[in-house]
Amino acid sequence: MNHLPIAIIGGDLRFVRLCQLLIDKGHNVYVYGISHPDIPNQATICSSLEDVKKCKYIIAPIPFSKDNNTLFTPLSNVSISIEQFFLVANNSFVLLGALNNNLKLLFKKHNIQYKDLMDMDEAAILNAIPTAEGAIQYAMQNSEITLHDSQCLVLGFGRCGKILAHKLYGLGANVSVEARSSKDLAFISTYGYTPIPLKDLKNHLDKYHFIFNTIPAIVLDTEAIKKMSKDTVYIELASAPGGIDPCATKTLGINYIPAPSLPGKVAPKSAAKIIYHCFSLILHDMGEFL
Ligand code: NAP
Repeated sequence: MNHLPIAIIGGDLRFVRLCQLLIDKGHNVYVYGISHPDIPNQATICSSLEDVKKCKYIIAPIPFSKDNNTLFTPLSNVSISIEQFFLVANNSFVLLGALNNNLKLLFKKHNIQYKDLMDMDEAAILNAIPTAEGAIQYAMQNSEITLHDSQCLVLGFGRCGKILAHKLYGLGANVSVEARSSKDLAFISTYGYTPIPLKDLKNHLDKYHFIFNTIPAIVLDTEAIKKMSKDTVYIELASAPGGIDPCATKTLGINYIPAPSLPGKVAPKSAAKIIYHCFSLILHDMGEFL
């Protein structure tokens, strides 16, 4: 068995479960920026960020940062500045997720070797499964009707949009899917969903019980929101800026449900397995075995 020194810094419950997976495989795991009773006893709890310097591999949070200043550490009171992180990570390989373009530039400037899981199709596709299940859970929790026989609109037909539409269809919902490419629209009708071209979206908005957005760009402006039924539950899955202005939904009486980071919330064990699987693929490419 290969005993790799691996640091886990920050992150949500997924990273607690990942810690257990790595320990079970015999790796030497160092943890900083997570305080949780389920962190296994065999893990080394670091008292300072400096302690992770000896690790060849660092697993950093997903998302890496929410404020562009500090790492995402929801399970700890410690605040880790990105600048501090760069000082300890310069000799390690960093696995992380959801870096924005500004942070990508900073990593480049500091010459830190990293891989963003969200840039791996395999990770994003597998992650779309807990995301879709979480979206469905949120829809059920926030309405008084069944998804069966309901009118659902999925905005976007990328990795999350495809898997969510498939699962909603399986539950007996009437599924419409918005896309902007004619190829996607053709696939949408082939699967038995109603295709909605982006340019026609505003003409269809009055009939949905649920709208699930997977597009990280504003596609529904105030005029569009005014056309939505007041009974619509809008579930925001996409990262900032999302598909709609939440303040406008409040003013116009639409039930806006933010649904960020669902894999870590609804299926942390499954999500940890996905991170582990993708980490092992990355290491394999580097000639290392997890
Ligand atoms: P993806 O595969 O890139 O799909 C994005 C979709 O949005 C595509 O259909 C794309 O259309 C469309 N799109 C992008 N920009 C657009 C624009 N300006 N106007 C119209 N359509 C546009 O991404 P994904 O993996 O499905 O992820 C979708 C979003 O969910 C991302 O923001 C991701 O960060 C987020 N996410 C959230 C969670 C959660 O727990 N909430 C989990 C995973 C992912 P084209 O193909 O035509 O470009």
